[in-house]
Amino acid sequence: MKKSIPFYEYSRAYTDDKKEVLEIIDNVASRGAFIMQKELTDFEYNISKFIGAEHCLGVANATDSLEIAWSMIGLKKGDEVIISTHTMLATASAIKVSGGEPIPVDIGQDGLIDPISIENAITNRTVAICPTQLNGRTCNMDRIQEIANKHGLLIIEDAAQGLGSTFRGKSAGTFGLAACISFYPAKILGSLGDGGLLITNRVDDFNTAKRLRDHGRDEKTGNVTEWGRNSRLDNIQAAILDFRLSKYGEVIRRRREIASIYNQYLSKINELTLPPPPDNGDHFDVYQNYEIQAENRDDLKQFLNEHGIGTLIQWGGKPIHHFRQLGFQQNLPNADRFFERCIMLPMNNFISDDDIYYIIETIVKFYSK
Ligand SMILES: *Cc1c(COP(=O)(O)O)cnc(C)c1O
Repeated sequence: MKKSIPFYEYSRAYTDDKKEVLEIIDNVASRGAFIMQKELTDFEYNISKFIGAEHCLGVANATDSLEIAWSMIGLKKGDEVIISTHTMLATASAIKVSGGEPIPVDIGQDGLIDPISIENAITNRTVAICPTQLNGRTCNMDRIQEIANKHGLLIIEDAAQGLGSTFRGKSAGTFGLAACISFYPAKILGSLGDGGLLITNRVDDFNTAKRLRDHGRDEKTGNVTEWGRNSRLDNIQAAILDFRLSKYGEVIRRRREIASIYNQYLSKINELTLPPPPDNGDHFDVYQNYEIQAENRDDLKQFLNEHGIGTLIQWGGKPIHHFRQLGFQQNLPNADRFFERCIMLPMNNFISDDDIYYIIETIVKFYSK
């Protein structure tokens, strides 16, 4: 029987916990507590504990978080920052609008930035590496840290997709000087709109970021010594996120369960390359996305669509270096091949086991034609 399984059903990001969310909104709004109130500081405290970070700052979105991080470290014109080509445009644009030059490099089999390619891209203008903790998986940060130390480079992480994932027991977002997390609705911890987080382990950086988030104003004195912006996380969103954070462990458990079912059945199909399964050594993955590589990818996508299954090709099918009109000229063969084959299967907390088995059966049917 044909089913209808959307890739991601946005309305359910509200209807699934509507009762609690409406109570939270009513409670916060009735007190007129809209901007920078207790709910925001409570959430910042609780998520710091969850991540194991010293300081977390709620901001308007993850892109702002990266821009604030680059201002915070004083990125200068012409400074080069090495990024993965398999990332959102935001990773690159945050560097560019801060005066720097984003330098995309190639990826490994798991789609994450390739350490050898990082090393090959280092010039005397390189100041930092900005690895993306893609699809809910943290990079091998030992390798990246080693390269950074050897060449005297900073690390700022794009952990927009990485909340709760770890490498050797350490959370995404805590390896570098700063990191971002995104609360875009389809992210694992989603708000009812835009939202983001800046993570840092140093108190002076935290205080700088806090001023930059609020027009450059010092919280206590109101004094202004540098230009800032308005990038505050709404108090209502913070209250909703804090409630959802308390259930986040279960959310991740379920995603890892879905990944393990996909892995159990799809690993038998030779035409597919799967992401690493949940138990894979040093990595604890949270599966923001389940991104596979598939032979005849476009036909598979169409076949799944005809069977009511929604899929998505990440970043509209374009890694950063394909944006030629933005001036990128790199030749990155692993990523080129990856982007001919990659496709994301439904991975979220709204789908049932029946849905997952239907998706698996349909894929099996496609390759046995
Ligand atoms: C979602 C995402 C962002 C941007 O997050 P916003 O909160 O929408 O600004 C940046 N980088 C990556 C890897 C993302 O997935």
